[in-house]
Order: sequence, then structure tokens, then C-alpha cells
Amino acid sequence: MLSYQHAYHAGNFADVHKHLTLHAVIDHLLRKDSSITYIDTHAGRGLYPLDAAETSRLQEYRDGVIPLWKARQALAREPLLGDWLAALASAQPDPSRLTHYPGSPWWMGHRLRAQDQQWLFELHPGEHEHLSQQPFPAAAQRIHGDGLKGLLQRLPVKTPRLCVLIDPSYERKEEYLEVAETLLTAMRKARHAVMLVWYPLLPAGRHRELLEALRDGGLRKVWYGEFTRQAPSEAERGMYGSGMLVVNPPWGLDERLAAAMAPVVAHLGSPGSYRSGWWVEE
Ligand code: SAM
Repeated sequence: MLSYQHAYHAGNFADVHKHLTLHAVIDHLLRKDSSITYIDTHAGRGLYPLDAAETSRLQEYRDGVIPLWKARQALAREPLLGDWLAALASAQPDPSRLTHYPGSPWWMGHRLRAQDQQWLFELHPGEHEHLSQQPFPAAAQRIHGDGLKGLLQRLPVKTPRLCVLIDPSYERKEEYLEVAETLLTAMRKARHAVMLVWYPLLPAGRHRELLEALRDGGLRKVWYGEFTRQAPSEAERGMYGSGMLVVNPPWGLDERLAAAMAPVVAHLGSPGSYRSGWWVEE
């Protein structure tokens, strides 16, 4: 049963970390003309009005995107973060006011070119219905179905390049290993693909099963970045941090993100920290 709805969490610190990483990867991929297929295996709604009942209930964006938006003029000096904030402004009906937070389909696809394709999978019927109503380009195909199975069925893709985001809700503990198995199979079918996986940092530490399964499965060139908001011991049952894993990361990603995450950590308040590096080197 699917009960998770991302609208309750839109714009929180994990979204900032995830979408900033995604933005940095895509920015690099767009430096070349050759066509790209983007696959978002767990798309969600695509766009989140901040005043929607679900989003305004927990207001997680107040400890995520809001402090960065408020400081956007000063933060524009940092190239990647400034560019991300400018993109965020461009997603607003009125670019001077933050009223909407865009989800991964938008961050992946807002610079879709004529030669590119995008497939957006969403299994929850209600969330898929929301996604279907977004004014995304016709090349952004929205599929009501399982994103992990859908990814494997579509490989290899016809374009020379492929970028995949896997962003489950991890409602079931089995999902960590399902993601690892899917990623290992997908990388055998598309060796040069850039694949991103988001994972939560929770006191139970199940993300380690995912990371270790990838290393045991022989995957190479696996980079990770982790944004920690509080010590695991203080988190009790809640999420204390956000992790992003990138297979085949673009050159320079680590340095660009480290520079952009430093002011993010500073603006989202102590005792936050960010660390990154190779999980498995080349
Ligand atoms: N990627 C989105 C973003 O960054 O804006 C957020 C996605 S949210 C964390 C996870 C989504 O995956 C939920 O909307 C959920 O309904 C959906 N979902 C859960 N299991 C799925 C599956 N097997 N295939 C596709 N979507 C699934």
C-alpha cells in the first residue's frame, strides 16, 4: 500500500540537497549537444504549491528552501547555488515570490531540448493524476507504473546518454535492496549512464544495506554526498540527514557541490554538516 505523499515534505532540507545535486549533474550534462534520456523512477507530483493543505501542514520548507530563498541575493555569489536559486525563481508564477516548490521532474526536465526525452514514473494513482496535470513539455512522458521495473524494461535507451534519478520513499525496508539490485542490473545494461539515488539517513541505518550491496555487486565509480542536520543519537526515530549517491559522476561534481553546500549548511543552521567522497572509486 502506498501512503507516502511528498507534498507533506516538499521543499525540506532533503529536497534542497537532492535537487541541488540533480541540478549540478544536469548542468554538466547539458554542456554537450548529444541527446539525453532522463528517467525519474519515482516522480511524485512535479510541482508543489506551498499553500496546499498537505504542504502547509508541516511546513518543512521553513527549514529547507525558505532560508535560502530569503538570502538569495547574497547567495547568488556562489555560482552553483546562485544558478539553482535563479532556476527556482523561474519556476514561480511571480519570480519575486516563492509560492511553489518544483519537484524532481521539473529539476530534471526544465531545460529539456528538442533532442532529449524524459520518462516520469509514478505508481500512486492520485500522485500520477497530479503529475499528469502539470504543464510539462510533450517530450516528458508520464507513466502510471512501477519505476524500478519500468527503468529496466526501457534499457538500453536510444539516445547516446542517459540520466536516471531513483528517489523512493523507502516505506518498506526491502526497498533499499530492491534499489541496489535494480541499479546493478541497470548499470550492466547502460554502463555509461549517470545514475542518482537519494537515501534517507535514519537511526536504523538501513541505507548501509544499499551502499554495501552496490560495493559487493562490483559497481565502480560510485560517489556520495551526505547532508546531516543533527546527530543520529538526537534524531530518535526521525530523519537526521539526506544522502545522494551518483554513479559515474560528472567531472568536478564533488568540488562544485562542496562549495554550494557550505552556505546551505550555514543558512540551515547548526549543527549541520556536509561530507562527500568516493564510496567506490574507479
Ligand atoms: N522524486 C520526487 C521529487 O524529488 O520531487 C519525490 C518522490 S517521493 C520521495 C516518492 C514517490 O514515489 C511517491 O510519490 C510515491 O507514490 C512513488 N512511488 C512509490 N513506489 C513507487 C514505485 N515502485 N514506482 C514508482 N513510483 C513509486
